[in-house]
Amino acid sequence: MDDVGVYVHVPFCERVCPYCDFAVVAARTLSPRDEADYVAALLRELASRRDAFADRRLATIYLGGGTPSLLRPESVAEILAAVREAFPGEPEEVTLEVNPSTVERERLPHFRAAGVDRVSLGIQSFDDTTLRRLGRAHRAEEGRRTWAACRDAGFARLSLDLIVAAPGQDLAGVERDLGAALEAAPDHLSVYELTLEPGTPFGVAASQGRLATAEEEAAVAMLERVEARLVDAGFERYEISSYARPGAESRHNRRYWQRRPVLGLGMGAVSSDPPRPGRPHGSRRQNPRALGDYLELAAGRTEAAVESLTPEAARGEAVFLALRTRKGLDAAAFAREFGDPPRHFFPAAIDELGALGLLAEAEDGSLSLTARGRMLSDSVFERFV
Ligand code: SF4
Repeated sequence: MDDVGVYVHVPFCERVCPYCDFAVVAARTLSPRDEADYVAALLRELASRRDAFADRRLATIYLGGGTPSLLRPESVAEILAAVREAFPGEPEEVTLEVNPSTVERERLPHFRAAGVDRVSLGIQSFDDTTLRRLGRAHRAEEGRRTWAACRDAGFARLSLDLIVAAPGQDLAGVERDLGAALEAAPDHLSVYELTLEPGTPFGVAASQGRLATAEEEAAVAMLERVEARLVDAGFERYEISSYARPGAESRHNRRYWQRRPVLGLGMGAVSSDPPRPGRPHGSRRQNPRALGDYLELAAGRTEAAVESLTPEAARGEAVFLALRTRKGLDAAAFAREFGDPPRHFFPAAIDELGALGLLAEAEDGSLSLTARGRMLSDSVFERFV
């Protein structure tokens, strides 16, 4: 039986971080009314969308955001129960993103009782100066206490997020964060280089010369340090930003890189609908990124934007998503889907990136990033989309 992963977006955050480009809504305190309205909208959307994924086994559930831990455990339980009821099977993984600044630590055991078995904690840094410069609401001690509370609540699978190349951060600062992260002993880490997205307060400040982050080579040195240190500690960099101990990879996130169907629910969520007659490469469905518009959609008064993937778009996506992973792009599997191996469609990009030492092509035409390519992955991906 084919399967489906379900992503549930909860957009509320205590405050919006100045670098954030996600679909979020500032909600210092989330009122019970707003929470109930949002949960009701999610359940309505689920009811109207489940048929597009009919006859699929439930593989994973991921509650992301925003800050889903702002929801009361009762709301999380209600959402999880509805998703489980919509699809057959036991999910292999149920993840909840948690923020140290907002989580009610005493709620963690209740989230676990509701069926969450994996927590991803947005620690970002163990250094107060870095956290302040990032505009984060929490401080290092709060991160550590929340981490300990996750352990106490009995979550066996724990991931933490780190940001590198934050304003003012140097290699020594990254080293200290890595040391603290390893001391916390997660089974998974997501490590992101800070990006200055246009339109965010950080992006605007950078464009006006008021904010400087690490130069490219300094950022590369930080990412290389992260990889060396974590690999040395027994983690595998199984995806550009993701490190896991053997067997602890995020099964939900893996679905995106493998282009497997995901039902996305909530404000700004994206669904990857499976192929069907007339849509041989499946389709993408993008929910509105504004709360009012999303509530209208869930009430059935508007339609989401649906894009049927052209062969060209599907090929580009297949390459760049697979290249994110350690395994890379399997030429034979690619040829089975698109009729010819990658070189047939992308000869110039493969040759040029190969000459720059960013991309490796195996004898059978399979592609993977080189060590340097992993550090400069964006310049590789932009050649395929
Ligand atoms: S906590 Fe995360 S989702 Fe919320 S505003 Fe900050 S970066 Fe964005």
